[in-house]
Amino acid sequence: MPPLPAEAGFGTRAIHAGEAGDPSRAYLNPIYQTASFRFDSFEESDATFAGERPGYFYTRNGNPTIAALEAKLAALEEIGLGEPARALAFGSGMAAVSAVLLALAEAGGQIISQEALYGVTYHIQAALLPRYGIGVTFVDPSDPAAVARALDEANGRARAVLLETPVNPTLRCMDIAAIAQIAHAHQALLIVDNTLATPYAQRPLALGADVSVYSTTKFISGHGAIIGGAAVMPASADFVPWLELYRKNLGAIPSPFDAWLTALGLRTLHIRMERHCANALAVARFLETQPQVTRVYYPGLPTSPDYALASRQMTAFGAMVSFEVKGGMEAARRVLDAVRLCVITPTLGTLDTLITHPATMSHRDLTPAERQRMGISDGLIRLSIGLEDVTDIIADLEQALAQL
Ligand SMILES: *Cc1c(COP(=O)(O)O)cnc(C)c1O
Repeated sequence: MPPLPAEAGFGTRAIHAGEAGDPSRAYLNPIYQTASFRFDSFEESDATFAGERPGYFYTRNGNPTIAALEAKLAALEEIGLGEPARALAFGSGMAAVSAVLLALAEAGGQIISQEALYGVTYHIQAALLPRYGIGVTFVDPSDPAAVARALDEANGRARAVLLETPVNPTLRCMDIAAIAQIAHAHQALLIVDNTLATPYAQRPLALGADVSVYSTTKFISGHGAIIGGAAVMPASADFVPWLELYRKNLGAIPSPFDAWLTALGLRTLHIRMERHCANALAVARFLETQPQVTRVYYPGLPTSPDYALASRQMTAFGAMVSFEVKGGMEAARRVLDAVRLCVITPTLGTLDTLITHPATMSHRDLTPAERQRMGISDGLIRLSIGLEDVTDIIADLEQALAQL
């Protein structure tokens, strides 16, 4: 398979990277739906296990279908990085986040984390890591000085800083380049959960981060058919062998079929994101004009507190739009009951426009005080804008808001 030219653009990489490597010359990579691989002899088995001969032997350790997906993920994140990237696919976004945290932290170490982030990521850090003697300090990194203070207080014990930007569901943005510099000055690594932006809209490694993590369940696979995850880092990063070891030993690899569906979805990521983002901007602008809406959260609106930062560090503003309706919980309930096109479902990043109520869905288990700290009011509604005709999305929201 000839390598892609270094200057190949995002769309070309999304389509061509990781393809055309099959020995039978299948047009699409075949699905190697197998648990293990055969050897022809003792010698071949011995050399493969010794690592002296390239080859697969057991799918928990690796599989050609999964490797093809990883080649695509690495090629997309590599743009602007100046060195090869390495991607590892996981069985879920949480498997990727957990393995990265475990690979980077050690007993006695400290993680500096954002407080307002994906609920399960928060829970792993608040409740599970401390059981292994790993401390976690939660800060609000929209002020990078708060990260610097936490790193100072960790007194050399900080191993990593974890960010999510834009953050779900308020879509606040964190300054990746500034925080990477601060983290590195303290010998800590920067992990960025880039699920909401995808590498189409934001490339954390090129901005100085050490690892990008993804729930590929969302926009990356794009069709809401699989649960998956990924971690992408410079191929030379010294923690790559640790991460491989954790994935293998925890058994956190995806199935070949899920990896194949994810790679198929990735081939249209750029086209989907273009439309997702254009539709999202139009919906955000529409919502700003609605009297029943008290606030719209979208980093691509000039009224957003993060518009300047997002314009600098993102190449597009993403597909997530949140808004607050007048009338709190009762008004939010009426909007969710009134929509006809938008689908009520607790995920994001599929072809349809999805609507959720964070206070009773994704952030239900938090206390009202915690929700308030994270900016999640009872009247907050989150949309994952889909690929429908935008006039239809807007018409649906308009008729739903008219019920208030
Ligand atoms: C969904 C999500 C995750 C978790 O991913 P799963 O694939 O559901 O395990 C992590 N981070 C963010 C930002 C997410 O949206």
